[in-house]
Amino acid sequence: MSADQHNYNLSPGEIRETLLTLNHAIENHRKWFDTLHRSIIFNQEFPKDILDELAHTKCQFGKWYYGNTSKTFKHYDEFTLLEATHRYMHDNARKLSHSFINNETPSIDIYNKFISYQKEVIRLLQALHDKLINLSHGYDALTGLLNRGFITLMLDSLHEKSLRYKYLYSVAMLDADYFKKINDTHGHAAGDNVLKAIANHLRTSLRKSDSVGRIGGEEFLVILPETNKEDARFLLDKFRDSISKLKIDTGSEMINVTLSAGISQVSQDDEDSWQAVKRADYALYRSKENGRNRVTVAD
Ligand code: GH3
Ligand code: MG
Ligand code: MG
Repeated sequence: MSADQHNYNLSPGEIRETLLTLNHAIENHRKWFDTLHRSIIFNQEFPKDILDELAHTKCQFGKWYYGNTSKTFKHYDEFTLLEATHRYMHDNARKLSHSFINNETPSIDIYNKFISYQKEVIRLLQALHDKLINLSHGYDALTGLLNRGFITLMLDSLHEKSLRYKYLYSVAMLDADYFKKINDTHGHAAGDNVLKAIANHLRTSLRKSDSVGRIGGEEFLVILPETNKEDARFLLDKFRDSISKLKIDTGSEMINVTLSAGISQVSQDDEDSWQAVKRADYALYRSKENGRNRVTVAD
């Protein structure tokens, strides 16, 4: 995993929307390509702006790429590569069109370059599309948080990074208090609403660079990059306090929920990241033992 890590906080809704936008971009690009070919073969009118030095910013795809809606992709390697690839494709399309318009014999070399850049543009767009599909499979359906499998992968790759670059991070385990009682008193659907409310609150309270997954029924795992255990405690305690004040709608009444948490800072001596998770889990157990609605840092 590489720089792509930043985008795991996209919600399933955002992913669906982005997939549509991407399909649209691929479709637009194919249309542009067809029009250009028709123009070349039948010597008809060339696509608008084809001779423009800035054609790559003016085609439908270019407008999307340099516009606002594409910013979801900015951390992906493929997205970065698309900039030059798409521009080179336009440069060669411009040279080809010039030849045709001036009744010169076009260079086969330029044509070949044009075709290979075109193929590369489609390949990169397709790769982005596939990554988004993969991403949508990494989510927990109820809460939209990362699922256990996915956050495990993230932890593994972060640990590699921490060993190699002495990268500092902490993990936190969170567990809803007396959750069984909420289900028993208000019903399972109300319990589900509470889980969604906790997830939403986590999503909006944490930093973009933090990651949060639902790893069990009412258990959550938070990864806090570049955060030591003292800062993690401050952050989690603020979160614990704010969730305890949140009124959650069960459908019939408004209720409160509290959380217990355990924190552990990952050490260079940890063989794998699950060692830190286990320490956080043990600290969480102590939070429960000491009365719940509290945060404990593993020593
Ligand atoms: P503690 O404070 O010690 O954590 O007590 P608790 O009641 O929260 O813990 P316990 O492990 O006894 O119960 C967890 C409950 O969470 C039991 C299970 O039915 C419920 N649960 C697990 N997954 C879901 C879910 O997806 N939806 C709902 N509504 N309940 C769930
Ligand atoms: Mg539990
Ligand atoms: Mg619980």
